[in-house]
Amino acid sequence: MAEPKTTTTRMDGLTTADDAPTGASGGPGMAGQENRNDVDTALVVHPRQRQPSWLRRWKYALGAAGLAFLTVPFTTVGTWLLPGEAPTDLTNYALRTKRVLETTPLIDGHNDLPWLIRIELQNRIYDGRFDPTQRLLGHTDIQRMRQGQMGGQFWSVYVHCDKAQKHFEDPSWIVRDTLEQIDVAKRFMAEHPDVFTYCTTPSCVRTAFKSGKISGMLGIEGGHQLGGSIAAIRQAYDLGVRYITTTHNCDNAWATSASSVAAGAEDRGLTRFGAAYVREMNRLGMMLDLSHVSHQVMRDVLSLARAPVIFSHSGAYAVTEHLRNVPDDVLRSVRRNGGIVMAVFVNRFLNMKDPGAVTIHDVVDHIWHLAEVAGWEHVGIGSDFSGTPHVPAGLEDVSKFPDLMELLMARGATDDQIRGLAGENLLRVWADIERRGQEIRAEGEKPVEEEWEGREWHTHYRSSPYMYRETRERAVREGWGVPNQFNVKGGNHGHKVVKADEHV
Ligand SMILES: [Zn+2]
Repeated sequence: MAEPKTTTTRMDGLTTADDAPTGASGGPGMAGQENRNDVDTALVVHPRQRQPSWLRRWKYALGAAGLAFLTVPFTTVGTWLLPGEAPTDLTNYALRTKRVLETTPLIDGHNDLPWLIRIELQNRIYDGRFDPTQRLLGHTDIQRMRQGQMGGQFWSVYVHCDKAQKHFEDPSWIVRDTLEQIDVAKRFMAEHPDVFTYCTTPSCVRTAFKSGKISGMLGIEGGHQLGGSIAAIRQAYDLGVRYITTTHNCDNAWATSASSVAAGAEDRGLTRFGAAYVREMNRLGMMLDLSHVSHQVMRDVLSLARAPVIFSHSGAYAVTEHLRNVPDDVLRSVRRNGGIVMAVFVNRFLNMKDPGAVTIHDVVDHIWHLAEVAGWEHVGIGSDFSGTPHVPAGLEDVSKFPDLMELLMARGATDDQIRGLAGENLLRVWADIERRGQEIRAEGEKPVEEEWEGREWHTHYRSSPYMYRETRERAVREGWGVPNQFNVKGGNHGHKVVKADEHV
């Protein structure tokens, strides 16, 4: 069952030297259909009526120019050309890739370098030990990001979850450590202003790219990192976090994780409280990430979402039946939803039977399948570099992204398809999510105040200057605490409360 299936079917509308294209490339929101190339204007225009010769001449000229403009982006010579550049030999994949990545920011959806800074350096980056301009072990440093023609990186501000935690309200260091990861990721980028621009909007990414910088963005890898609190999501957004991975490898107050199901637990999908989480993520215009959740959670969220969703680092389940990967029915829903699946490079997700044998070609197979089912407008790159020791042969580090693009071109992907995969799709989806958030907020929708059923609240001190007589009387009647006494009362304090065990 887990045998990887190699997909060899070609996409419709592929552009090769022998294959006249029909226009499957590009897509809504694909920037840069503009073309400075006027080759391939061998058009035959058949006038049906006699017209004055001057009009015929102009009509032919204008018609030819117009048709050329419309068709050239889909033709074999539809390569993005800079002024003065000649059309590219289509089999020169390296040159085509270089040109695409000179005009489109290559954005990776998931890199765990901040986690390594935490566990190896305890977040101390000024004492001279940490120099990412030099070659480091592992997958990521600035030299190799430049070699890889990277235009943007989502840094994962990850802190692991505690599988033993059953009560999602238990006191935890996880939220504190998440704040520290946000802090160190920003400080790391600020130390290298000639390389990185910290960005919280797609337009910032484009501006940074034009000035030769690598944009750096933040994503939180699990709802446990917000303590199951929707108010904490809002604050994470204000701190600059732009996606939240709904779960990591533990269930949380919102959803079931893929790891739980893989370990034999029932797939209970999204919780009722999770529906409130989806509502607030859409209202905020924060990217809702479905990597790491169970398949039922993917389906539940897609049925509720009012904005596109993302998968920051996942593969294709039809190619490798690992529960971390995205099944075909969900890929079809993502196409309808307008979201994006960003392909992961973790060996065991790419080949469960023989992870040690995984190569860059397995990633090509996964991307090809994702694109075939979800559409080329709905794929991206989410490596998980620096977050896993096991990456494919041929994709050893961040310098190898162009090699992947070249292999996809060799398989038949057009420049526009690669442009979308590299970064345009993510920028479009991100902008769409932001826009939906603006629309929802403009309609007057209030921030979500729902809370997890097991939530406990600290009562006030007996002597507080209460606003309401009723509270003061309760404080006396129930013997509320004195200053510095940590007094906790049960969850239901009049807010709308949902049951943790109710799943949608
Ligand atoms: Zn992950």
